Formats: sequence, C-alpha cells, structure tokens
Amino acid sequence: MVDLADMVTAYDVVVAGGGPAGAATALRLAGSGFSVALLERSRFDRPRVGETLAPSVQPLLRDLGVWERFVALGPLPSWGTRSIWSSTEPAAHSHLETGQASGWHVDRRLFDRMLFDAAAEAGASVSLGTSLSSCAYDGRWQLTCSNGRRLTARVLIDATGRSATIGRSLCARRIAFDHLVGITAQWSGVDVTAEQYLLIESVPDGWWYTAPLPGNVMVGMLMTDADICRHHNLTAPNPWRTHLTSTTATALRVEAARLPTAPRVYSAASHRLVRPGDIRPWLAVGDAALAVDPISGSGVPRALRTAEAAATTAAHLLLHPADPTPLTTYESTRNTECTTYLSTRADYYAVALPHPTPFWTRRKLPVAS
Ligand SMILES: Cc1cc2nc3c(=O)[nH]c(=O)nc-3n(C[C@H](O)[C@H](O)[C@H](O)COP(=O)(O)OP(=O)(O)OC[C@H]3O[C@@H](n4cnc5c(N)ncnc54)[C@H](O)[C@@H]3O)c2cc1C
Repeated sequence: MVDLADMVTAYDVVVAGGGPAGAATALRLAGSGFSVALLERSRFDRPRVGETLAPSVQPLLRDLGVWERFVALGPLPSWGTRSIWSSTEPAAHSHLETGQASGWHVDRRLFDRMLFDAAAEAGASVSLGTSLSSCAYDGRWQLTCSNGRRLTARVLIDATGRSATIGRSLCARRIAFDHLVGITAQWSGVDVTAEQYLLIESVPDGWWYTAPLPGNVMVGMLMTDADICRHHNLTAPNPWRTHLTSTTATALRVEAARLPTAPRVYSAASHRLVRPGDIRPWLAVGDAALAVDPISGSGVPRALRTAEAAATTAAHLLLHPADPTPLTTYESTRNTECTTYLSTRADYYAVALPHPTPFWTRRKLPVAS
C-alpha cells in the first residue's frame, strides 16, 4: 500500500479554505490554466451562516460564470431591509429604490458547495474533509494536510475565514476590532411569501436579524458581544428565546412558527490580518484578510471581490516571481478597504446608538485590539 506521507504532489497554488473566497480564487486561477489544489476542512454537511446576499453579488457571480448555477439553487429574492434601529418606527429600504432588482436569501451550505464544485469543474484539484495543518517555505511551500498528504506550491493562499489560521501560523498579526458573536436558530414551517426582506432590530444587548430562507424556513440571529453572551448564557435555548421576547417586530415575525432549533454560536468578530514584513509568496483572501461586521451585509460580495484581486496577484507572482510589487499593492488595497470599513462602521453605529448600554457605548470608543 502507498503511504500518503511518501507522496508529494506539486501545484502552482494551494488554497486553504473552500468558502466563497477560496473557491472563487481557485476557480479563477484554474480557469487561467494554473495547477491549483483547493482544500476544505468541512464536507459542507453542517449549516453555515451569512444567508442574505446583496444585489452587488450578481455581477460577481456572472463574471465567475456561475450565475445559472446560482439561479438553479432556487434562492429567494430579497426586496430590501426593514430596520428598527434608532427609532421605534420601522424604516424600510427597498433595493428597487436604488435601481437594483433584488438581493437574495440563500441556503449558504448549498451556495458554498455550488462555488466549490464550480472550482473543481474549472480544473482545481479539490479535497473535502481536509485541513491544511502545517506549512514551511524553502523557496517552495512544503505543506502537510490533516490526512498526512503532502503538497508543494509556489504560492499559498489563506482562505480559512475569520480564523485566518494559515496567516497567523506565518506570524501575521491579527488586529481585532471587536468581539462580536452571532447566536442563531431556525424556524421551519413559516410561510415566507410575504416576508422576503431582512429585518434588523436593535436591543440593549445588540441587535437581531431575521431573514427567510428557501423551504419555508426563517433564520434568526442575535448579534452581541462574547462577554454579554456568556454573562446571560445566551447560547442556551431558554435565555435565547426569552431574549427574543424582548423584541417587537422580530418576535412577531416568528410568532406562529414551531419551536426553533437549538441556538448555535458563531464568531462574527471584525479583524484585519497584517502580514509580517516579508516577501514570501502568500496572501490572505476574504474574511481571512479583512473580516467585517455583518451589519454591513457585504461579507460575501467582499469575499468574491478580493478573490478576483488575489487571483490576479497570485498569477503575477507565478509569472514574475522576482517581482514582489503586486503583493505590496494587494496589501495596501486591503489596508485602504479596512480604513474605509472602520469609518463606515463608526458612522453607522453613531447614527444609531439607541441604548446607553455596554454593547452600544463600546461602539463609540476607538477600536479595541
Ligand atoms: C453571524 C454572521 C452573519 C453573516 N451574515 C452575512 C450576510 O447576511 N450576508 C453576507 O454577505 N455575509 C454575511 N456574513 C459574512 C460572510 O459569511 C463571510 O464574509 C463569508 O463567508 C466570507 O467567506 P470566506 O470564504 O472568506 O470565509 P468562510 O466562509 O468562513 O470560509 C472559510 C472556509 O475555510 C475552511 N477552513 C478553515 N480552516 C481551514 C484549514 N486549516 N484548512 C482547510 N480549510 C479550512 C472552513 O471550513 C470554511 O469553509 C456573516 C457572517 C457571520 C459570522
């Protein structure tokens, strides 16, 4: 029998993480003729968060050549957002008013799997249930996977999401901007035909969002800080449901539904990953490079946009290995995005500040690190 540890497979690029950023990067590079391995830790067999896609995702999916596959997933059109934020009266924002047709509510597990499969069809060598567990650079990347498989690559891409595990193992510094978490559950058997919008509602401990999903499901999530979550034990079903009853429009929206699933908690912390001052050929893409507050509703479009920039940068590094300029340009563009994001987030929360509680007053202070 051949021992996996004895086999070493060489690639131009190895992408660690098969979420939207990693899959789109792999798809673009494989489509340009480079040899690419795409490694994904999960098997897309568990629920994923981030279900509401902004209208800006449409041109990005078209450009990737996956628009028809996306439509075939049966996403629900999203007509806009209703918010109870800085006043008790709901404010409505319709995508139609901005000249855009609609956004979408999707099953993120199916959406992510669709992009992953498209990368495979473009020629990427894909592996599910496989983490990248170690990496070292000696002029080529020497990589080991969780199943013992060994790979080499000329360029390495960290697409591991908010954990940014690869970049951090390469001594990149993570600057944390908050400690936000999302505690989520789903209700089934909801008639969502009249509910095709995102509802956000502020509460003293943070804010709630609810959104319909295909299959008559409603997803609800409380966004709060990790310490507040621990203090009120909000990952337990009863405290979470009691918290929901403190809302007005959100609780009404799921009033007639069956009991929700047990709550699950996800990190939603914002951060920027800063490279050490070296020129080793690696990049972070998507949330690994810059993770933003879900209030922006821009996570997936951002992931797809940075994938395009990462693929262009990686291609340049492969074709002109002696020229590290694209790495510097890539990083400085991410820094500019980060500065813009922080200023937009500050404006957003400053307009709101509906409650004089720790969650809200913290957001008036300079960012924590
Ligand atoms: C609570 C919450 C709500 C959100 N709501 C929205 C929303 O409504 N709309 C929106 O656009 N965005 C939303 N987002 C943001 C959005 O989900 C992310 O921005 C987007 O998923 C980023 O894509 P990514 O590929 O960079 O990272 P991810 O989607 O996190 O993918 C990273 C992948 O890497 C894999 N991985 C991790 N480590 C390894 C390893 N060592 N080796 C191999 N694979 C690994 C993981 O399994 C995962 O599949 C939300 C985020 C949160 C936390």
